[in-house]
Amino acid sequence: MPEDLFGDAVPPTQRIRRKRAFRDTDRRTLGERLSDCAHNPDLYELAASLPQPGSVGRPRGYPDLAFLYFLAARSVLHSARRAVAHLEDPEVWAILKSGAASALGPQEAARIPAWGPTRAQWLRAQKRLCGHSHDLWEAYRPLALRQALAQGIFPEDETRSWSNPQRHQLIAADGTVLKSPTLARAKQSVDLKTGEIRNHRVDPASVPQREGGGTEVYGPKYVFFSARRGSDYMTRVFLDCRYAPHLHPGGEAAVGVSGALDIMAAAPGCMGLLYDGAMRGVHRDAIARHGGLVINKQHKGNEPQFLETLRPARCNHQLWAASGRVAEKVHFADGTTALAPVPIRRLERRGTHGFRWYHVLMIPCRHGTHEHRVTVGTTSRADERPPGQSDEERRFHRAEHLQQIPEFTRAHQLIYPYRSDAESGHAQLDASLWNGRLISYGVEAQQLLTLGFVLAQNSTSRALHQSSAQLQPTG
Ligand SMILES: [Zn+2]
Repeated sequence: MPEDLFGDAVPPTQRIRRKRAFRDTDRRTLGERLSDCAHNPDLYELAASLPQPGSVGRPRGYPDLAFLYFLAARSVLHSARRAVAHLEDPEVWAILKSGAASALGPQEAARIPAWGPTRAQWLRAQKRLCGHSHDLWEAYRPLALRQALAQGIFPEDETRSWSNPQRHQLIAADGTVLKSPTLARAKQSVDLKTGEIRNHRVDPASVPQREGGGTEVYGPKYVFFSARRGSDYMTRVFLDCRYAPHLHPGGEAAVGVSGALDIMAAAPGCMGLLYDGAMRGVHRDAIARHGGLVINKQHKGNEPQFLETLRPARCNHQLWAASGRVAEKVHFADGTTALAPVPIRRLERRGTHGFRWYHVLMIPCRHGTHEHRVTVGTTSRADERPPGQSDEERRFHRAEHLQQIPEFTRAHQLIYPYRSDAESGHAQLDASLWNGRLISYGVEAQQLLTLGFVLAQNSTSRALHQSSAQLQPTG
């Protein structure tokens, strides 16, 4: 039997845990985290991207940079109320002033007031910044990617093995439903006893949604994209976060695809994407055509599909697609049949703009092994093949049934768990919210919140990377 490129999956009981234990040195104090944020140069670039205050009207007490810092600090401190309380202490606020002094010079730093803004000042600023939340994210995406590249993520000069991508060569992405800021789902309710009409504030971005486990959560859905090099705590870099509107065509996974394609286009060293079962064939097809891998699980309801019959010389091999790969139908003496996975010798990527992916199969046979190449990962359209031969005309959803890296293999077993990084990112976001619930109403304010969270996380990731680079100069 020829050896299989991806190897056999190991039974769960024989698997070794790779998760690193949490150490005391992994702890980051609030003071350190606030300092990480103040010394993140991207904070200052983001502030500079905002329109400068005009000469008309009352001069602002605080520059926008102070409010962007507040946004990150609010994520570290879990609520605006706590952020106000901490930052109004001049000793704590001095953290920002020292960061500003090193980023912009002492003159600019001296223009920042000696203590942080009041709650009313913050609320006014938030209202104004909401109008720029989209632009702020647009400005931040390239900065986040630049940070990732500087931390050795998506290197361009490293070997890319399509059958064995490394963690730092892949995006981990996942959608999450955040809990709506209120339980109210309607703007008004009627008290059945008194007939009194009550008004409620509702979040326009929230809808009832089902999470992976099947539990219903009321809130807005966001897709987060991150990557990391190594397994150290808090070294993940968040690259993007996008709102997934309810009933968006293609759903959350379509938002995942567009975000991943943007990152891949900007980072040639990125090899593809880790995603959960929400990504189906149509989504994999889009990523694969752009040259990327999708490592995810097969949809549970998929039945084996007949693929083709090979008749070289005296042989007759019936090939099916089952469990994400090609399998041969074998007949036993007792009249029963089974689908036996066909060993894969190579995973090939061909093309320059539109890409095609192939499995080079080694079909075992008593007349000698047959080598046979099949397209995987994409579903060919009618105009891409001679008449009648495309997957579309044959109604074979190839991208759904044949995976680049099939699920039930050792390779998949080793790579796919990196996706859980996306989930632990969501857990950190939930932990950064007071009572695990959103505090912001509407997509604009929520985009400010996600920006604050991502900025705070990336600031610490950057600081940890810099201190480890100082400890071990690698040249
Ligand atoms: Zn044969």
